[in-house]
Amino acid sequence: MRILLINPPRFEGIPVIREERCEITERYSILEPYSLLQIGALLKGQGHQVDLIDLNGFDLPWEDLETRLRQLKPEAVLFRFTPTTFDHDMRTSSITKRVLPEAKTIGVCWTLRTLARDVMSQAPDLDLYVRQEYEVVVPDLVNALQEGRGMSSVPGIAYRSGKEVAVNEDARPLEDYDSLPIPAFDLLPSLEPYFVTAPAGRPYTILYTSKGCPFKCSFCTVAGTKWRPKSAEKTMEELLYLKGRYGIRTVSFFDETFTLDKKRVLRLCDALISEKLDIRWYCNTRAHLVDLDLLKRMRQAGCRGISYGIESGSQSILDHADKCVTVEQASNAIAWARQARIKTFASFIMGLPGETWGTVDDTISFVKRTMPNSAEFNVAVPYPGTKLYEMVYGENGAGAVDFRKLYQDDAVVGTEALSPADLNKARDMAYRSLYFNPRWWFRNIGHVLSEPEDLDLATRYATKALRNYLVYRMKHAH
Ligand code: SF4
Repeated sequence: MRILLINPPRFEGIPVIREERCEITERYSILEPYSLLQIGALLKGQGHQVDLIDLNGFDLPWEDLETRLRQLKPEAVLFRFTPTTFDHDMRTSSITKRVLPEAKTIGVCWTLRTLARDVMSQAPDLDLYVRQEYEVVVPDLVNALQEGRGMSSVPGIAYRSGKEVAVNEDARPLEDYDSLPIPAFDLLPSLEPYFVTAPAGRPYTILYTSKGCPFKCSFCTVAGTKWRPKSAEKTMEELLYLKGRYGIRTVSFFDETFTLDKKRVLRLCDALISEKLDIRWYCNTRAHLVDLDLLKRMRQAGCRGISYGIESGSQSILDHADKCVTVEQASNAIAWARQARIKTFASFIMGLPGETWGTVDDTISFVKRTMPNSAEFNVAVPYPGTKLYEMVYGENGAGAVDFRKLYQDDAVVGTEALSPADLNKARDMAYRSLYFNPRWWFRNIGHVLSEPEDLDLATRYATKALRNYLVYRMKHAH
């Protein structure tokens, strides 16, 4: 089949991340559409003709989609969409239907997977919704379309059957991450536009070395999914390819819990050091899955930043959220990273169940005490399919909230003690506690003096932080 993969344009001029658990607007990051590149490689491997247009990355308008549709005449288009940019992203399917009425329109979104009927009923030009892991579902779906097989034979999708919406059984999860081909980066004209947080250290890419997270944090859309790693060898194969072809300098390992298997990380570090790959890399993990020795080895292998989901400085909030981490572990993780000369990015959530002004103070005190190099403060979002969603709306909460309003910077629900407006205020207070704190600035200036290679990044980052706060009031940004 001829397939066109589409990353829709920016939303009101603001870049959008459409990746796994991260389906959000983000003013200061432009990421490769990694999942579309992965889909591209899988479909090409099956003999399909695949093209891709990254309207978001290259800041292109809808007109360019129309032009490409007329040129390429795909039999199917596939795009990712997010809850808050839903109507905007769905223009992809309405434009396709206007230009090529026979082409199938396929949408992929993880966050709304439990609301498949709502998705289909609110997107009349969408033919098919991939609601589970695209690595397994999309190849089967496209083969079924080519073979003229009925859509009822494809697990993990929703589709239209006459006037009804049919939601098929769940697809089996991806089993072997190593079995996937290297994502088809060659579908992109270049890696030039991409960066995270600040445009320094390019060429840059995101990359997954594992998928899923077995922990059960109540607010998280990937909680309780099986962790499936790529081996160190497979990860190196991808990195060597990126170095050889693009001269890649910076990589964000976008996995939820990069250090879940310490031995795997150490093997990867050994390989990075012995190959002298000379890339700077960043990763996300949980605070209790690091120790000083591991962090020192990671630093030797090029790690320059680590992002911890700390969530709260209050133990009772963490316990209520099933975080299974202690405040002390979080504090140690930040201190050890500093000792290992790895920058720390800590993320927090205001408004988890039980939040009061007292626990907000605990979080702000934690930040002032531990002084991560950077922090992001979000408000709690009751994402469909999470335990938090059930707690807020009950088990049958479908339709209880307009998913277009699920922003991490504007609360839609409060707690018993705090209203949504209070939580927005708490978020603002937390940012002020950092950005107007001389100790934080001195510490970061001290860091740059000891790491001159970070000067460009730090300067851009500082400008971003101030603009973010003073101009944009932290909307669509962290
Ligand atoms: S540790 Fe918790 S928040 Fe992080 S990915 Fe796993 S379940 Fe989600």
